[in-house]
Amino acid sequence: MSNMKKEMANYAADINRASNDENIQKALGRAVASYRKNVTEALDRYPHTLEMAEEVKAIKLKALDNWQPLMEEAMEAIRRNHGQAYFAKDGAECIQKIHEIIGPRREIVKGKSMLGEEIHLRQELAALGHDVWETDLGEFILQLNDERPMHILSPAIHMPREQVAEVFSKFFGREIAPEVAEEVAAVREFLREKYFTADVGISGANAVAAETGQIAIIENEGNVRLCTGVPPIHIAVVGIEKLVPSFIDAMKVCEVNWRFGQYGAPGYLNVISGPSKTGDIEKVTTYGAHGPREFHVIFVDNGRSDMIADPRYKEAALCLRCGGCMYECPVFALTAGHFGHTYMGGIGGIWTAFVEKDKEEAAPVLYNCLRCGRCIERCPMKIDVPSMTAQLREDVMKKYE
Ligand code: SF4
Ligand code: SF4
Repeated sequence: MSNMKKEMANYAADINRASNDENIQKALGRAVASYRKNVTEALDRYPHTLEMAEEVKAIKLKALDNWQPLMEEAMEAIRRNHGQAYFAKDGAECIQKIHEIIGPRREIVKGKSMLGEEIHLRQELAALGHDVWETDLGEFILQLNDERPMHILSPAIHMPREQVAEVFSKFFGREIAPEVAEEVAAVREFLREKYFTADVGISGANAVAAETGQIAIIENEGNVRLCTGVPPIHIAVVGIEKLVPSFIDAMKVCEVNWRFGQYGAPGYLNVISGPSKTGDIEKVTTYGAHGPREFHVIFVDNGRSDMIADPRYKEAALCLRCGGCMYECPVFALTAGHFGHTYMGGIGGIWTAFVEKDKEEAAPVLYNCLRCGRCIERCPMKIDVPSMTAQLREDVMKKYE
């Protein structure tokens, strides 16, 4: 119990510190107001989203029950499309597989992926000798500042522009003004070259259509297009809960996801089925045209199958990672993200319990929830986080009785 006490005490100290951090208050105050305004506008403009969210919930609940046959179907389709597909039971297997595919000392450009955060993808690949660049602006800021995301959709949400300017000025070795446009331009200029020199692009996925083997990735910045379209090898790392039966199902998941992520329409929706190809000369299909010549998909479990198999927590696996709940959570509004854990907010406590090696790792995060239920109102999947939190607290504490 003493370890648990220590973890709780450390966590409480972190949370207290965060709640007194002026940068966090400033940045979150701006972000919450802007999210609420944008999501209200998006849902008013496209009112069918609410009904579609119910449909997506039903599609995903059924898909979770069938994740194994769906994964086999998807793997077969990906191979038929001249890609490669694999299953990794945990993070270590996933990292090992990537290392095997790409060989030693590669330059890698990476898009945002919470699964990547969960398995410490960048850090583990760097430890194996690879040079890894985060290309999502928020993730890039955190890479430079040696931090981890504070929100699942907006990783650097806790940093106001003034603080970002300090980090960039130090890294680029010149004065970057605390103006968002100037900050974005500096990163654009720096990363542009990396896309073309990188050996490998790594992405996540928002949904996978088992029938056709297509993966869908939502983004706004255009970095995912470049990561998945320019380097000669593209590897997608995907949680097994992202599988749905058909392409149309995957599109519905994406539309609900981006709408609750506050967008009427996102900048880009990337749909990828295999390596680039052409049949323009004598109708001879040749793989490796302008885009990647190799496409690999690694389906990762890492605790998800246990979550899905337990009826008390299965619905947590419905989470689309839209991030809406966090903007409504009174605790998150004061403290932002994880403080040592990948997943944050109330839903983060449930996920932490399944994806970390020991369930008790989730204990401090579980006590970060007031069980007020505001997150359920915002959640497109209506995930009952407060009830699951109460149940998990019992489960975790039982171990110490
Ligand atoms: S129930 Fe918990 S996670 Fe949900 S909004 Fe309230 S405090 Fe936040
Ligand atoms: S719990 Fe719901 S609102 Fe929160 S990120 Fe997941 S799907 Fe979105």
